Amino acid sequence: MTQQPNIIFIMSDDHAANAIGAYGSVINKTPNLDRLADEGMRFDHCYVTNSICTPSRAAILTGTHNHVNGVTTLDTHIDNRMPNVAKHLKTAGYQTAMFGKWHLGEGKPHEPTGFDAWSVLPGQGLYNQPVFIDEDGKKVEEGYVTDIITDKCLDWLNQRDEEKPFFLMCHHKAPHREWDPKPEHRSLYQDDFIIPETFDDDYANRARPAMEAKMRIARDMRYEDLDLVQLPEHAEASSDWAYRDCVPDDPEGLKLICRVTGEAFTFETKEELAQFKYQRYIRKYVQCIHSIDENVGRMLDWLDEKGLADNTMVIYTSDQGFFLGEHGWFDKRFIYEESFQMPFLVRYPNAIKSGTVNKDMVCNVDFAPTWLEMAGAPTPNYMQGRSILPLCEGETPDDWTDLAYHRYWMNNDTAHEARAHYGIRTKRYKLIYWYNDDLGQPGARPDKLPPEWELFDLDKDPLELFNVYSDPEYASVVKEMTEKLDAEMLRIGDTPEH
Ligand code: CA
Repeated sequence: MTQQPNIIFIMSDDHAANAIGAYGSVINKTPNLDRLADEGMRFDHCYVTNSICTPSRAAILTGTHNHVNGVTTLDTHIDNRMPNVAKHLKTAGYQTAMFGKWHLGEGKPHEPTGFDAWSVLPGQGLYNQPVFIDEDGKKVEEGYVTDIITDKCLDWLNQRDEEKPFFLMCHHKAPHREWDPKPEHRSLYQDDFIIPETFDDDYANRARPAMEAKMRIARDMRYEDLDLVQLPEHAEASSDWAYRDCVPDDPEGLKLICRVTGEAFTFETKEELAQFKYQRYIRKYVQCIHSIDENVGRMLDWLDEKGLADNTMVIYTSDQGFFLGEHGWFDKRFIYEESFQMPFLVRYPNAIKSGTVNKDMVCNVDFAPTWLEMAGAPTPNYMQGRSILPLCEGETPDDWTDLAYHRYWMNNDTAHEARAHYGIRTKRYKLIYWYNDDLGQPGARPDKLPPEWELFDLDKDPLELFNVYSDPEYASVVKEMTEKLDAEMLRIGDTPEH
């Protein structure tokens, strides 16, 4: 009898599809991630139900939306007495392990459950000499975090019971802000990057939350994230460390010095400074991804060496997308495409044809039911997703959903001032309701904006620059999309706010 398939789930943090070769990246190369696409399937419409770290992780583990699992914001931690997919897989005979970023809370009520072995970062974790928590407590570990997480995975795999299938969650911290590449990767990608065509977006023709968000590279990205400090206007450019803690009196920040190298920079205009910040941001971001790519390569090599590649499903994804200068932004949180889309590459040679692409609508709530079907275990009634295994095998069921749902609850959060909203995307349209209300959610703050609607026609406007909600030509589309939204909220049991 063939053993149940193994499952390796590799998830990074804030890795946008636009920074993966297989998705057509123009800013970096990811040969090992691309192997998964070349030897497996690339999903082009995989979406997150709530575009921030903690809720996405809860949706993946439980197979439920955030109003059901209770993890709606960064400040609501998981109740680990709830059932989760690891517990069900253990029941189905699997060995289970979880290494890396957890971000669902610390301490007994929140730590990982359902795993035979686990070792996780507290909170966001550190890039260098990170602290890890396991059942014995906290310990500092030497080295670079992406390497260490992979080492932990491979150590566990090497000492597993070979008679049983395994389920391994490998959760990288990278490339989360603040971006700290491995020292030997800081010399990579020295050429200038292409600037996205919406970098200078003026947010006209949109609901106000786009304008209000504090996510602009030009204005809101912290200098310390880019290893920079501002020089006082009167100071000469110098490599002297004396300037490291200087208090800037140049509000435009047109004179900067690098904390690391002592290099000094002077800019003529704010636009020139914004482009410099973009280049520096993207450089550090893709340098962090380089280490992920290398370490995914190590995992794939291990599978080859052990002869396990054919009977192992390997997934690479990210907890959500990220803005890489599109609309002038960094960060995520929004249902806008760059943040909403999760990269999703899956290789499983026993069932998936190599080099295939799927364009159906899937979401992170679908992952747990997929793994349970792989294991030959039933999907419990409480789970709200649907197994994508038939899609992997090239057979989309006739009644497969035509939409993806998103809800962001953390209204007007302190750091980014992104507004609470929910909405749906179909292949052609995206409907968004900005209800802009904190609803008493932890980490959310009271309303400052009246509610607004947005509709985008993604065939005609893939960059999401023109809200056509009030355009009479789209009246029937608005009606149809609103009905779909209402029906989806009813189906999943979420509460409309209008
Ligand atoms: Ca994240």
